[in-house]
Amino acid sequence: MKGMMMHRPLKIADLITFARDTYPSSEIVSVRTEGDIHRTTYKETAGRIAQLAHGLKGLGINEGDRVATLAWNGYRHFELYYAISGIGAVCHTINPRLSAEQMIYIVNHAQDRVLFVDLTFVPIIEKLRPHFPDDLQVVIMTDRTHMPETSLEDVLCYEEILDGQAAEIDWPDLPEDQAAGLCYTSGTTGNPKGTIYSHRSTVLHAFSMCVTIPKVLFEGSRILPVVPLFHVNAWGLPYGAPLSGSSLIFPGGALDGKSLFDLMDREKVFSAWGVPTVWIGLMNEIKQRGRLPEGFGDIVVGGSAASRSLIEGFEKEGVNVCHAWGMTEMSPLGTQCNLPPDMADLPFEKRIDRKQSQGRRVFGVEMKIVDDEGKRLPQDGRTPGHLYVRGNTITSGYFEDPEASKPVFDAEGWFCTGDIAKISADGFLTITDRSKDLIKSGGEWISSLDLENIVMSHPGVANCAVIAVPDDKWDERPLLIVQAREDAQPQKEEILGLLAERVAKWQVPDDVVYVDELPMTATGKVSKLTLRKNFAEGAE
Ligand code: ADP
Repeated sequence: MKGMMMHRPLKIADLITFARDTYPSSEIVSVRTEGDIHRTTYKETAGRIAQLAHGLKGLGINEGDRVATLAWNGYRHFELYYAISGIGAVCHTINPRLSAEQMIYIVNHAQDRVLFVDLTFVPIIEKLRPHFPDDLQVVIMTDRTHMPETSLEDVLCYEEILDGQAAEIDWPDLPEDQAAGLCYTSGTTGNPKGTIYSHRSTVLHAFSMCVTIPKVLFEGSRILPVVPLFHVNAWGLPYGAPLSGSSLIFPGGALDGKSLFDLMDREKVFSAWGVPTVWIGLMNEIKQRGRLPEGFGDIVVGGSAASRSLIEGFEKEGVNVCHAWGMTEMSPLGTQCNLPPDMADLPFEKRIDRKQSQGRRVFGVEMKIVDDEGKRLPQDGRTPGHLYVRGNTITSGYFEDPEASKPVFDAEGWFCTGDIAKISADGFLTITDRSKDLIKSGGEWISSLDLENIVMSHPGVANCAVIAVPDDKWDERPLLIVQAREDAQPQKEEILGLLAERVAKWQVPDDVVYVDELPMTATGKVSKLTLRKNFAEGAE
């Protein structure tokens, strides 16, 4: 027997229509590439999104067409998210930090019809244009006054696409599994792979983040997504914020500690979201000024593991740290580590122990850990295994790439995250490594993350990474690579001594290498691939 409730398709445009009607004065504040600060509301934005949607149709964009963006976090990028998906097209966000080769690959693979580009990135597109499809229409995201001199032919101006269009629209009812967004992973090996989000997965993800992180997503909250709109939907904030009535403060391109501090202070940002490296910069600024930005009370940190010293540093300042884990293929949220009330009274050190884990699963994401043969392992907080996930917000295969899709699902249809993790009896997930970053020494696994965490607690260390290097006797041994703080010279003996106090002797790296700066990936993580190329392969 079937239920007898109406079936209305879940659609992304409903989120902004809801925000317009329910939270009309919640704000979107943007640091613009033109150099000034722009302020608007969900009400005004909903009107401009309607105008943009009409404009896109005028450009000949149809359902299923891919429309690309190459832009910082700002209100125009946010408008594109909604207008493109609202008319049934697919918003393909491109990461400007990708290599030229990768960018050429994904624009051609996605067969983008239009490319919206911020002023900052016009020079990149001038160079790459000959390698893109001939009929790709380029639009520069500014007004007529700020249109740059460019060698690009037939470029359009963003504001002129909106000019004269109606600020009302009847959004079409699309099938809820219609494609809405496309994001490629940075492709550390082989070509980048595309994840296609649907209206259904996106709306469910928005609900899920609102109910699992309610201390941040509420009417009146002011949130700073440092995590970019060009990678995994800025962790869902463009959808969760309007659904909850939170205001969004978009930082544009200046993501150093000083610029972020000033913006947060001026705009009274409550919660800021981003990868650990960004928070290292902000923490230095907080220490220098001897105070927090006004109104600041919360960070959400993910993308790579947050070190104990980072979590401790913010918590000591009275800022709640929510450590979160996810993936492009998961929309991205998988787990979040706000502590339950019965842990609020734990001693400080014990609370930090807990917060170092990646936390409990969000609604709709199931998790299992298995051994090399695929047999389920116990969730006892001690046994590490390959982490698999399943749910409505998780990919079912890569865009037009059946070869890459096959190996990532098991016989039961679970998705292989490529992470190694432990899960405790009370449901806390701890990521111990990427499977490709694990170090296997004398048949035993060594977690690079555990070692990095300890090394990060040394006051002279700005950042570090542990990689496997080939070894005749043990197969692999860990090598520690350290980036020292500007004013410090942490000694090898001190660092290795620190490790020897905390881990078994055979896990302590044999050597420490110092670098001026660790190489980063396009998504702001330490690039172990580059380090392995530089140090491990050379050592063979
Ligand atoms: P890319 O691989 O393109 O940078 P993703 O954002 O999809 O993009 O990366 C997902 C991976 O990042 C996860 O599988 C995991 O290895 C790592 N990761 C994400 N969040 C955390 C976290 N909080 N702790 C440890 N690793 C994390």
